Amino acid sequence: MEHLDVARFFPRNRYSAMLGTQKTASNFIKESVASIFALECPTGTGKTAIGYSYLKAMLASGVKQPFYLVPNKTLAEQVKSLHPDVHAVYGRNEHPCLFYPGENLKADEIPCSLLQECPHRVNQETGETKEPGAERCPYLQQKYEAKQSGGITVATHAFYLYSVFFAKEFEPGAVVVDEAHGIAKAIRSVLEFHITDWNLARMVELLGSILSSQAEVLDHFRKRMIAIIKAKEASKKTILEAEEIRELLDLTNAIDTRAVDAEIRAAIEVGLIDRKKDRLALKQLEILGRDLRMYMRSFEFALPTEVRHPLNFTFAFWRQELEEGKRVQYELVVKSYYVAPLVKKMLPKNVLAYSATIGNADIFSHETGIKGDFLSLPSTFSSLNTRIFMPTDTPNLSVKERNRRDKTKSLRMIAKACKTFSRKSIRSLVVVASNEERKKFLELVAEEGVKALSYGEGVTPRACARQFREGEGDVLVGTDSNYGEGVDLPKGIAPVIFYYRPSYPRPDDPATVFEERRFGNQRWHVWNWRVIIGLLQVRGRNIRSVEDVGVTFLISQQFRRFAFGSLPEWLKPAYVGGKTFEECVKETVKMLS
Ligand code: SF4
Repeated sequence: MEHLDVARFFPRNRYSAMLGTQKTASNFIKESVASIFALECPTGTGKTAIGYSYLKAMLASGVKQPFYLVPNKTLAEQVKSLHPDVHAVYGRNEHPCLFYPGENLKADEIPCSLLQECPHRVNQETGETKEPGAERCPYLQQKYEAKQSGGITVATHAFYLYSVFFAKEFEPGAVVVDEAHGIAKAIRSVLEFHITDWNLARMVELLGSILSSQAEVLDHFRKRMIAIIKAKEASKKTILEAEEIRELLDLTNAIDTRAVDAEIRAAIEVGLIDRKKDRLALKQLEILGRDLRMYMRSFEFALPTEVRHPLNFTFAFWRQELEEGKRVQYELVVKSYYVAPLVKKMLPKNVLAYSATIGNADIFSHETGIKGDFLSLPSTFSSLNTRIFMPTDTPNLSVKERNRRDKTKSLRMIAKACKTFSRKSIRSLVVVASNEERKKFLELVAEEGVKALSYGEGVTPRACARQFREGEGDVLVGTDSNYGEGVDLPKGIAPVIFYYRPSYPRPDDPATVFEERRFGNQRWHVWNWRVIIGLLQVRGRNIRSVEDVGVTFLISQQFRRFAFGSLPEWLKPAYVGGKTFEECVKETVKMLS
């Protein structure tokens, strides 16, 4: 793509003028002959409008079905509200199914692919419903409208992976990847499969009930899987070796999935299964057919070939005794790990990827598979509005360095500081690495008489953050995976953030073992990149506009090694590395009062 004029398509009906950063980005794209771009766009640089203009310019150049990708529905809604002409498409879980009226079921809870006769089915070519005049299936209708619109479609990474890449329902000529630093993690999280003895036993039973020729073959797989798992140490996650995966792959390959599909359909036809009455059994059969294919594909990628190392890993876990209420004794977990080649393959030729935190462009590209012309935009925020405190007297909380009391002592320091702040009506966000630390902190902060909010016991992290935003509590507490990114607390909602320690992988985690084997010492580059991105993301939670004022406390001395060096230039003056914790608390009170 040569000299794409992004500025020409800037939405001037919505914004009176382009920001300096938006002009820089559009000139960068215009002057380049590359077709893939990676932009680091700090908060406030106007990235959504850049992406929107880029896709509009692509459309004008003749490119079809451009997509704007985001990690979740909330962000998709934000893009839609900023640019109402884009079409938002959501997964099945966001739409009701009309085939079972009165049952309040979502489209992902029903065996849709086995209900071809559904009168509400919207033909994706013609737009006609299966039964003329029938109410239109909302899930299929939104996809049909997006295809027909000829405009920009906004969707989640997961929707894109399944509907665009796997199912080939769209053929996008250009894609914007928002929050691109997290795309590998997002893809990994949806490509994780659990194969359990209980599930397999259910599948065998279901196949038996429709007299399937494949019930016995699947049962053989189940028995061998249990034998392989049982040979490992109990209650420990152990990575399977290549020969074991090869054997499991051969056994799954022996299952004729086409025969399974045909037999299920035949069972429906002859009335062995009733579409309405046996909905749950039918759904399980649908999942069975899909899962078998997924297992095969996943095992394949877990094996090395002549041209590549394994991309997935599989670990086994089993319990000596089944606890009451538990049904799974033997389990295999297949995790997609190195998804960069997949991301590369699923994206078209023209890509604009951006994020507030890209950091090292080479490692970003290694992790995400997105390699293009890179530009880091300057921030429009003032470093005077923020501080990044790295106190001199907090402990090093790495497993090797910390002593027995360091964790409790440092969590108590944070709890006491929260108390000081809450007395001045300054609210805080505390981000810890593990659930155990979260619980311990909740205990300590309660002892200080400070009202802290956290999730659990039926309250989701999202709901809890909403309550906090609405004014409940003085402190919001959560782990890195829940509150490290995606939770915005600007305008004084939580002007103080405590970031407890960097989330390096646990040595006993199978993913860590896999990365050690796969990358050797190189793994440290990726791990350090991830913790740097983590730090930059956490720091940005309370500063979302030029007016916001907020500070971040880095607690573990592990941060000292890389924190200053990883900050973008504009933020470096905000780093305070020579004061004690108490001095930092005092400076915060002065700054925020
Ligand atoms: S096509 Fe029919 S069965 Fe499938 S989700 Fe839509 S309404 Fe439900």
